This record gives sequence, C-alpha cells and structure tokens, in this order.
Amino acid sequence: MPEVFNWQIGRTMSYPYEEAHPEWQFAFVFNTNRCIGCQSCTMACKSTWTFSKGQEHMWWNNVETKPYGGYPQYWDVKLLSMLEAVNPGGQRWAPDRSGKGPYGRFDGLTIFEAAEKTGGNGAQQRALGYLPADEEWRHPNFYEDTAKGPRGEPGGIVHKDGVSLPEHSTWFFYLQRLCNHCTYPACLAACPRNAIYKRREDGIVLIDQERCRGYRKCVEACPYKKPMFRATTGTSEKCIACYPRIEGRDPLSGGEPMEARCMVACVGQIRLQGLVKIEKDGTWAEQPKNPLYYLIRVAQVALPLYPQFGTEPNGFYIPPRWVPRPYLRQMFGPGVDRAIEAYECPSRELMAVLQLFRKSRQIVFSFEIEPGKKVYERTLRDGRKYELWNDTVIALDRRGREIFRTAVEEPFHVRPAMYVNSF
Ligand code: SF4
Ligand code: SF4
Repeated sequence: MPEVFNWQIGRTMSYPYEEAHPEWQFAFVFNTNRCIGCQSCTMACKSTWTFSKGQEHMWWNNVETKPYGGYPQYWDVKLLSMLEAVNPGGQRWAPDRSGKGPYGRFDGLTIFEAAEKTGGNGAQQRALGYLPADEEWRHPNFYEDTAKGPRGEPGGIVHKDGVSLPEHSTWFFYLQRLCNHCTYPACLAACPRNAIYKRREDGIVLIDQERCRGYRKCVEACPYKKPMFRATTGTSEKCIACYPRIEGRDPLSGGEPMEARCMVACVGQIRLQGLVKIEKDGTWAEQPKNPLYYLIRVAQVALPLYPQFGTEPNGFYIPPRWVPRPYLRQMFGPGVDRAIEAYECPSRELMAVLQLFRKSRQIVFSFEIEPGKKVYERTLRDGRKYELWNDTVIALDRRGREIFRTAVEEPFHVRPAMYVNSF
C-alpha cells in the first residue's frame, strides 16, 4: 500500500491510495462541556435528509451518552477490542521527536495497518472493521443519560462524602457524532465500486448513489460507523455535510457559505463549523485567524476523535473536563491534558474565540479582536492566574466582511415590569 502522512498520529501510514488533498476541508469543533443532550441537532438532520421510507434507522447525526451509549451499539468498544486483539499491548503513543505530531506519535496499528497485518480477511478487507448486526442499529438512545457509577456499575450516583474536582467519580458526557469527512476515509478505501469520493473544493466525502451497489463495505470499514445501508434502494447513504449550504446555494444564505443544519440548530451553542485551507502536500495552511485553525492548531483545545484509527477525522472535540483522564486519553489521544488545561484557564484570545460559537449561520472564515477592559481576575486552586477581559470579537466572512461582533461579557437585559410574563 502507498504511504501517506497523517499529522494526527505524527507519522506516515499505509493507505490504499496515494495522497490527494482538497483545497479546503470541511471541519468542525464541538465543545462537549456545553452539550445538554437535547438532540435538536439530531432532529434537524433527520427532518432534512433522512425522513423517507427505508431511512428509519438512519441518524447521520446522533448524540450518545458515554461511556455506555453508542450508535450502533458499542461501535467504538468493539473496534478497539479488535485492534487490541491484532496488536496486543501495542496500541500506544510515544512522544513525537519529529515536530510534526502535535499529540505525539502513535506507535500502534491503524485500521489500515491492522487489515494488512491480518491478511485483509481473505485479501478483501482494506481496513479492519465489522458489519454491525441489525439489532445494533435499533436503539439510537441506548443508555442515554446513564452515568458510570463509583464502583463501575451504571447508575451509581450517591456520594456520601462528596467528590473533589477536577475529575468526578460518577460521570457521563454527551458525544456528538457525524461523519468526520476524513482526510483518509476508510469508507472510500473499502468501496470496491469506487462509488465514494472526496470533493476537491471542500473535502466533503460523498457516496455516488448511481454507482453504489450496496455491498456495505463502507459500513464495515468506517471506524465511526457513519455510512448506513438503505434496504429500499439497496444502497448505502451517509452525511453529505449539507453541501448545498456549504456552497452558498441555500436560498437563505445570500450566496455565502452556510454551516450545516445540525450545527445551526445547536441549542447549547457547542458547535462551530467551517472550512480550513489545505496546502498541496496536505498540511493545513497557516491561518491563525481562522477560528477552527486557532482552536485546533494554535490553542490545541480541540482534539480528533480516536485519532489512532488512522483516518485523520476532521471533527474535533473540546474534551469534557470532569471525566477521568485515562478514559479521555484513549478516546482523544494524549493531547487531552493540555486541551483541558487550556480550556479551564483560557487565554485572553481563546476566551474571545469561544464567543464565536453559534452567533450566526454563516461560516466564519476569520476573526479580529478589539481589546476591552479587564472585568475579573482570580488565582485558581492550582496557582494559575485567571483574568477575564471584556474584549470584542469580530467574525468575518470569506471576503473579510463583518458578519457580526460580540463581547466576552454578555449584555444583561432586564425586562421592564410592564412586560413580565409577556412576549
Ligand atoms: S467518518 Fe466514516 S463515513 Fe465519514 S469519511 Fe470517515 S470513514 Fe468515511
Ligand atoms: S443541539 Fe447542541 S446541545 Fe443539543 S444535543 Fe446537539 S450538540 Fe448537544
């Protein structure tokens, strides 16, 4: 297999195709600390794209409760166990010495390398994976809101003596999931019909419904289990990143690129989606004023989901700060401690950029900050100094025009007495 460079694992890896990169890449950051599990994102997607016959089980966007929830059931635990069985004790990270891997160097096997090692399951399999059974797709809300208890049982919630931060011993968190429009998609690698392609203009990964014959190799290979088979058409379908909106073709967008439906519908304001510029060699063009580039590459507060799988996913998560670190490290890699540290005591610039989430449906291509007054300061328990500045952050579109501006301190509105209990 050809060798390609995967920055998230800090090394080259084998992949069935040579490197080829888009000009821009669809990407998103989710702040798991803010999600309220309302499923507005899930329903926004469902009511837009998967409301037809044969799509009943299709949840291109879902929000599952970790550690027990998952759609399909146990998707990640199953694949992690399969990788461990192929490479017992070897799925480990090491420090990066090349300066190319911001999280370290993954020395274990990716799903592509594990498939090579196992002989590709009769030379047919290009990525280690499995086809979920029908019943595993039955319960999208399986274990919703179920906490991991102090003794490891689900449901334990009572602590006589209380708990101390930063980690809780009873915990759960919401994991928001959709197709990651991966740089090295396993679904594309596995398709024997070449029906799956990655668009040059925005890196969105699509299944050509004319070419698809429903072999379900993509369902088997995608480590995130995001392609889904539709029995009524005999084809597989997946998230299309609301590409008409990204292209500015939605009638509401005025010709400007607009964020996807699940992003815009987010009640918790946890989602920020946009496009990052990609160089010809696949590296991210340096764009420190692009909010996604800033959060992911400069502040390093948002991390990829299971980077060790090797597909270089383009969805990134600010990890939940109350969850035990070993759990988070296996899920988001070794960048977790630095990311949580940055989120707990945000720099002045990070605090301003965090205000950009969900103030507009238009894609924010860059930001500027106008300095304001210091409004608060204190020393944290670990001795770090925390300062809050009421800066104003200005969101700009792809041509540098202002979309909106917002301050760190939210304006306080008092409803006049005559309007109490009225709209
Ligand atoms: S998340 Fe899965 S379906 Fe989406 S691009 Fe990656 S491998 Fe393909
Ligand atoms: S809409 Fe936002 S807050 Fe609600 S479940 Fe989805 S990601 Fe979480």
